[in-house]
Amino acid sequence: MSEIKVLSKEVAELIAAGEVIERPGSVIKELVENSIDSGASSITVEIKNGGVTYMRVTDNGCGIPPAEVPIAFLRHATSKIESESDLDSIFTLGFRGEALASIAAVARVEMLTKRQCDDYGTRYVIEGTEEKLCESSGCPDGTTIVIRDIFYNVPARMKFLKSDVSEANNVATIVKRIALSHPDIAFRFIRDNKQELCTSGAGDLYSAVYSVFGKQFAASMLPVDYKYENVKVTGFTVKPTFAKANRSFQTYFVNGRYVKSLVLLTAMDEAYKNSIMTGKFPACVLNIEIAPGTVDVNVHPAKIEVRFSDENAIRSAVVFAVKNALLSEDTPNSFQFREKAKPSYLDPPPVVSPLAVQTTFTFNSEGTAYKVVRKEDQSIAENSWNNTYTPNSDTQKKDELAISEAVKPDAFQSSECKVDEPYTQPAREFRYINENSFEKRAPIEEKSENEVTPIKYIGEAFANFVIIEVDNDLFLIDKHAAHERIIFERIKNQPKALCCQLLMLSEEILLTDEQYAALLENEHELSDMGFSLQFDKAPYVKVIGLPQIIENISPDDILPEIADNILNGGSCTEPSVIDDIYHSMSCKAAIKARDKTTPAELRALAEEVYNNEAIRYCPHGRPVMITISKYDIEKQFKRIV
Ligand code: ADP
Ligand code: MG
Repeated sequence: MSEIKVLSKEVAELIAAGEVIERPGSVIKELVENSIDSGASSITVEIKNGGVTYMRVTDNGCGIPPAEVPIAFLRHATSKIESESDLDSIFTLGFRGEALASIAAVARVEMLTKRQCDDYGTRYVIEGTEEKLCESSGCPDGTTIVIRDIFYNVPARMKFLKSDVSEANNVATIVKRIALSHPDIAFRFIRDNKQELCTSGAGDLYSAVYSVFGKQFAASMLPVDYKYENVKVTGFTVKPTFAKANRSFQTYFVNGRYVKSLVLLTAMDEAYKNSIMTGKFPACVLNIEIAPGTVDVNVHPAKIEVRFSDENAIRSAVVFAVKNALLSEDTPNSFQFREKAKPSYLDPPPVVSPLAVQTTFTFNSEGTAYKVVRKEDQSIAENSWNNTYTPNSDTQKKDELAISEAVKPDAFQSSECKVDEPYTQPAREFRYINENSFEKRAPIEEKSENEVTPIKYIGEAFANFVIIEVDNDLFLIDKHAAHERIIFERIKNQPKALCCQLLMLSEEILLTDEQYAALLENEHELSDMGFSLQFDKAPYVKVIGLPQIIENISPDDILPEIADNILNGGSCTEPSVIDDIYHSMSCKAAIKARDKTTPAELRALAEEVYNNEAIRYCPHGRPVMITISKYDIEKQFKRIV
C-alpha cells in the first residue's frame, strides 16, 4: 500500500459535493431554498438542456454584502446559524452551510448580488472551487446565480445523468413542489426559453395548485381545513369521481417541507375507501402542521422520507380532515341544462361520467358529448393549463403564457398499503327485506327524527332514476347504485346482515379448480361471513347456507365471483379482498335498473339517500345522486334571465 496522504482541497470538496449535488435538480433545490431564505417574493428558475449546460436562479431577496460573497462559497459558511445552541436548526431546516461550496466544486458558477442599501452589487465567478473574479458591479437588488456545465470536472458523475428531458422534468417537479409549498412567492420556471410555470404569489394555495396542475385539476379539488389534536391539515383533496390512475398526484408537506410517507399514503387510501373505484387513487395537496419535535426529517438534503413520533395522530388527522372535506361537498354532482340541446331521443345516453361534477353536458352538431364548465368557473376556464390563476381576472394575457406538458411528478409506488381500522360511517337503519323491497325504520343514531329533511317524491324515470324535490332542487337518484351503497354500509356495520341463512335446498356449484381451491383455503373466513359450504367433491362446492343479506341470490350467481375476488386479491384476510366480497354481495343484492319497484319503496330509498351523506357514491365510485336546480330549470324556460 502506498503512503497515507491528506486529500487535496479540490478532491475533498468534490467528495463532499457528491453528497449534496447529484443532478441539476439538486442544485436548483438548494438555490431556490436559499432564495426563499433571503426573503424573496419572486423567484425565477431557468434551465437549458436539462440544466446540464445552464441553470439560472434569480430572486429579489436581501442580497449578500460585498465582503461576504466569497465567504458564502466556503464550506460550513452560513448566515443562518451561529452557535452550538442553534445546532437544532441544522436538523430541522437543514442549514448546513455547504450548498454553495458544493455547487462551486462541480460547476462554473457566476453570482450577481446586491443589497437594497448598497449602490453597487458584486459580481463573483468561481469555477471548481477556484475564484476567478470578484468585482463590484451594477445590478438589480437581489441575487442571481448562473451555473454552467455541471460536473464538467467530474466526468464519472456526468455519466450518471439521465437524458436532458429527464433531468429537466426532475427540475420542473422540484420547482413545482416548492411553488406549491410557498404560494406567497411568485415562481417562474423557464425550460429551454419556454415559460412553463408562473405562479401568482398571491398567497392562496388554490392559485398555486391551479398554476402547477392546471384548471381541470384545480376544479376537481375540495378544500381541506381541519385540526385534530395537535395536527393541522389544510390544502386540497380530489373529488372522488376525479380520482387518478396512480398515486403521482399526491403531494404532502409537513411543516412546509415536501415529504414522502407511507403513513400519509395509507391515511389517504383509508379516507377514500369505498368512495372511489378500485384501481383509482386519490390526488391531493396537503399541508400538515405539527410540533417540530414530533417529526423526524432525515436531514440529508437528498432525502425526503419522514418519520412521525405519533403515527396514529397523524393518520387520524388526515383521515378525518379528508373525510370531512368529502362530506362537505353537499351537492356533489350537479348539472345544468344547455340551450339548444337536441332532443334526448336523438342522442346517445348522456355521459354522466366522472366529469359530471360541476360540468354541463351537452352535444355538438356531430352528436358527440362535450362538457361546458359552470358559469362560476368560466373565468378560470378562459385560462389554459399552467397559467397563473388570478380570481376573476379577465385581463389575463393568455398568449404570453406558454402551455406545456402536464406535470409528471415522480411516480410514487407503494402497493402495500395496509389499513388497521377501516373508517366506517355510522349506520343508518335501512332494513332490507328481499332483493326488491325496503322498509324504513326509525333511525337509530344521534340524529333525531326531526332532523331528517322531508323529501317530495316525484316519480321514477327510465325504470332506474328516482326523481325527488327538496327545497329549490330536483335530485335524480340512481336506484341501483344507491341501493348497492346502502347494502354495502349495512354489511359493514351490522353483523346480522352476515348471519348464515340455511337454504331450503342445498345447491351444488361447479367451479374451476382455482376457484374451488380459493374457497377451500378460505373456508373459515367465508363461514364467518355467513357462507356455509361443503367441499366433498372437487371442483363442486355444495352450498348449504348463504349470508342473510343475499339469501335470495342464486349461489351460482355469487360464489364464482367471490372466488375470483379472492384469487385477484390473495386471501380473505386482506381488507381489500373483504371489501371486494362485500361489493360483490351488495351489487348482487341491490335492486337493478329496470326492476319493478313500488313508489313507496323508491320514496323510502330516496329519503335514505338524501339524508345520509355517506351515500353519495356507489362502492365502485359512481355517483348515486345528481342535482338540477330550480334556478337552472327556470332559466331554461326563460322565466328568469
Ligand atoms: P446555507 O443555506 O445552509 O446557509 P449555503 O451554502 O446554501 O448555506 O449558503 C451560504 C450563505 O450564502 C447563506 O447562509 C446566505 O447567507 C448566503 N446566500 C446564499 N444564497 C443567497 C441568496 N439567494 N440571497 C441571499 N443570501 C444568500
Ligand atoms: Mg442553503
